[in-house]
Amino acid sequence: MLAPAIGRPVVPFVPARPRSVAAPALERLGDAAADVGTDALRSYTALPVFLYPSVTGTAAEKALIFSTLDRLPMKDVGAIPAIRVFPSLRLFSHGQGTTLGVTFGSGDMAVSRTDGFGMANSDDLTRYIVMHESGHAHDFQGGILHAFLLRHSSQGPWGHGPFPTEYAESARAEDFAEGHAFYHLRPEELGRVQNDVGARTLDLKDFNAAKWQSMHDSEQPNLLEQVVAQKPFRETGRLVGQLTSNQLGAALHTGLGFMSMISSFELMSMGVSDVIDGVKAQDTLGAVRGGLSLAAGVSLAVGAGSPVLGPVALALLGARRGIDVAEKKASQGGSRTAAAVGGAVGGMVGGVAGPLGGTLAGYAVGGPVGGVIGLVAGSLVGFRGGAALGARAGLALSR
Ligand SMILES: [Zn+2]
Repeated sequence: MLAPAIGRPVVPFVPARPRSVAAPALERLGDAAADVGTDALRSYTALPVFLYPSVTGTAAEKALIFSTLDRLPMKDVGAIPAIRVFPSLRLFSHGQGTTLGVTFGSGDMAVSRTDGFGMANSDDLTRYIVMHESGHAHDFQGGILHAFLLRHSSQGPWGHGPFPTEYAESARAEDFAEGHAFYHLRPEELGRVQNDVGARTLDLKDFNAAKWQSMHDSEQPNLLEQVVAQKPFRETGRLVGQLTSNQLGAALHTGLGFMSMISSFELMSMGVSDVIDGVKAQDTLGAVRGGLSLAAGVSLAVGAGSPVLGPVALALLGARRGIDVAEKKASQGGSRTAAAVGGAVGGMVGGVAGPLGGTLAGYAVGGPVGGVIGLVAGSLVGFRGGAALGARAGLALSR
C-alpha cells in the first residue's frame, strides 16, 4: 500500500540518462586524430613518395615484382600505389588481343598472370610488363596537371619513328612505355622479348638516340627525389610495401593516393569559399586565410613531388596555422604577421624534415623497421609541430 505523499507532487521515477564523461572527450580525440591525419596527409602529398607499392599475388610473384622494382629509380617506384596480379585481364581487352597489363591514372597497376606466352622465361615477360606499365605511371607522375597536360610522352620524340616495337606505334603513351621498358631492361632480357613479342632492336640508345636521351632526362631526380633515392629511404619504403602487400594493404595504399588528391581539391574549394565570405563580410583576415588555402591546394594539386611547389604548399599552410595561433592568443597587427611568417617557416621545415629526418633517424637506430617507425612518427608531428613552434616563436620575437 502506498501512502500519499504530502506537499510533494508524485511523479513516476524516471532514471536520469547516464551522462557519459567519456563521449565528448572521445569526440574531441577523434577530431584531433583527424586533424593530425590531415596534416600528415598534406606532408605526404607535398613530398616525393618513397614507398614501394603494395603487391597482391603469389609469394613468388611478389618476390619477382619487388626485385623488378629494385632496378627502377625510386621516383618510378613511388609513382605506383599498388600492383595487383590477376589471372587474366580479359575485361580490359575489349575483344582485341591479350591485355598483359593496365595502369590507371592513379598509377595503380594490374598485371596479368602470364604463362610466358611462349617465351622461354615467363619471369622475363612479367618483368617486361612491369617495366612497360611503370613507364605509364612515370608518364602520369607529377600531379594532376602533369597527368593530363604535361605528360613526358606528349613532348619530345615520342610518337615518331623509329619505334622499338610495333606496339609502340599505337600511341605516344605506348611509345613512351615501351621506351621505358627498353631503357631499363637488360640486353639479354630484351633479346628474349625481341624474339617473342616482335621487338626490332636490342638497345634503345643505338636504335633511337633521341628517345633514349628523352627517357634518360625524364629519369633524373630533382633535389628532394635525390634525397629519397638514398638507401635508408628505399629500404624503409620497401618494407612498407612488403608489410602492406595484401588485399587490405593495397586498398589502403590506393586510398591514400585518392585521399591525397581529394584533400588538395578540398583545400582549393575551402579557400575559394573563405575568400568569397571574407570579401563579403569585409573580413580581410578571413580572405587572406582563404587565399592561403587556395594557393596551397593548387600547389599540392599541380606540384606533387616538385622540389619547389611541395614545400611552398607546406609554407602556405603553415602561415595559415600561424594566423590561427595568433588569433587564439588575440594578438593584433605586427605580431599576427610574425606568427604567419613563423608558421610558414616552421610548417615547411617541419613538414619536410619530420618525415625525412624521422626515417633517417629511425633507420640509423633500427634499420628499415626503425625507418618505418621514424617515418610514421615524423609524419605525424613534423608539419603540425613545426608550424605551431614557428608561430609561437614568431609571436615571442615580435613582442
Ligand atoms: Zn601500355
